[in-house]
Amino acid sequence: MTHSTCSKSKQAARYRQAALGALLMSIGLQAFSAPESAEAQKQRAHDIFKQLIEINTMDSNGSVTAAAQAMAQRLRDAGFPAADVVLLGPNDRKQNMVARYRGRPGSKLKPILIIGHLDVVEARKEDWTTDPFQFIEQDGYYYGRGTQDMKDSDAIAVTNFIRLRKEGFVPDRDIILALTADEEGGTSNGVDWLLKNHRDLIDAEFALNPDSGGVWADNGKALTVEFEATEKLYGDYQLLATNPGGHSSLPRPDNAIYHVVDALAKLQTSQFPFELNAVTREYFTQMARIESGQTAADMRAILQTPPDAEAIARLSKDPRYNSTMRTTCVATMLAGGHAYNALPQRAEANVNCRIFPGHSQEDIRLDLVKLFADPQLSVRYRADSGELSDHGSDRQAMAPPPLNPVFMHALTSVSQKMWPGVPVLPIMEPGASDSIYTMMAGIPSYGVNGVLINRDDVRMHGKDERVKIESYYRGVEFYYLFLKALTAAQH
Ligand SMILES: [Zn+2]
Repeated sequence: MTHSTCSKSKQAARYRQAALGALLMSIGLQAFSAPESAEAQKQRAHDIFKQLIEINTMDSNGSVTAAAQAMAQRLRDAGFPAADVVLLGPNDRKQNMVARYRGRPGSKLKPILIIGHLDVVEARKEDWTTDPFQFIEQDGYYYGRGTQDMKDSDAIAVTNFIRLRKEGFVPDRDIILALTADEEGGTSNGVDWLLKNHRDLIDAEFALNPDSGGVWADNGKALTVEFEATEKLYGDYQLLATNPGGHSSLPRPDNAIYHVVDALAKLQTSQFPFELNAVTREYFTQMARIESGQTAADMRAILQTPPDAEAIARLSKDPRYNSTMRTTCVATMLAGGHAYNALPQRAEANVNCRIFPGHSQEDIRLDLVKLFADPQLSVRYRADSGELSDHGSDRQAMAPPPLNPVFMHALTSVSQKMWPGVPVLPIMEPGASDSIYTMMAGIPSYGVNGVLINRDDVRMHGKDERVKIESYYRGVEFYYLFLKALTAAQH
């Protein structure tokens, strides 16, 4: 090779480099820097987690805004454009952070949304062995309020946004991260607020919410990788009977307490109808492989058309399976009477329902009215605020669509890599999370979480909340692989 051709080819190379540079700029890649060491990545995962735990985000005296600001700063420092990292909220204490990781320009694919609440359940220092707002490392665990619910997952999302960006990864679509307020309490739920006020900023084909789902283990050995794909709707109802009352020495058959007790006796012995949806069908299909004997056979039998009634009856004895097959309603509070020697003028009970997706709170109120069939008894819907009304809200949990195939493929392949042979199970959450808002808005939502927790070490909302150090870093790695698998340009 002569000097001249060399310099020519150098010049050509420069042109090519310039052209490549322009191309990379145009598709949003930043200049490559030297790859980071695994140690540096781990340190960042640690620092972000520690920072989040040590910012008090309780509703009573903390600030979600401070945590949102800290995470926004991290992302901007890592090179995310300021315009793509915004803080929004109804008031100064309840700002939510929304960050957009830009995907391939011109992608026709709708974004993927990740939601994570920044607020934590109240924790009092005097109840805890450690200070709940100090990030303490002890005996192989990280301690602090939010280490399980869910600052671990918030930190994991921010850590991986930064790592992927530093690596120059360009997803096949935008990935949006929303870190939000008031999931645990308070009146400014961030997901609800964002959907109502800035839907365009967080609109997505589907959402991931690491608040639910998880890798469940015994003594560190993974048993199932569960992900939430639908959830039940919460509803409280007041049963109330009133009566003129009178002297208890002259009882009449008409008695406020008896009206309520009769209604509760009917509730005790009746069940809502058996139902399946796309998620619970898959759940029982998978569980039939994990269970054995009669239980496994019953699970297969309820999947038949028509479902086997005896199999339903047997499975209904297990509270977990029962709650997966139907709406449940149960008496949770009872009060009545005002004196030992007077006929009661008033009796009331609270009935708490977990409503199967596809039914509204008003549908269930009407079902209860029909079941009790007592014109002397009123059945009123009790809102979260405690307010009672003669008409339940028409709010309903969306019946889940079939599981998204891109999502399923990414989840199962990464799970098999990290926890080989462990079944991946879709669940219908009987409790409630912020996914209820995204699902009601028509965004299918999946609770996916790669942090392994022993079944006997669930400390969410409790004292001395903690997460195994090793589980946390494996969880970081899981979401890194999972986000890449979800958005690698191959679909
Ligand atoms: Zn939570």
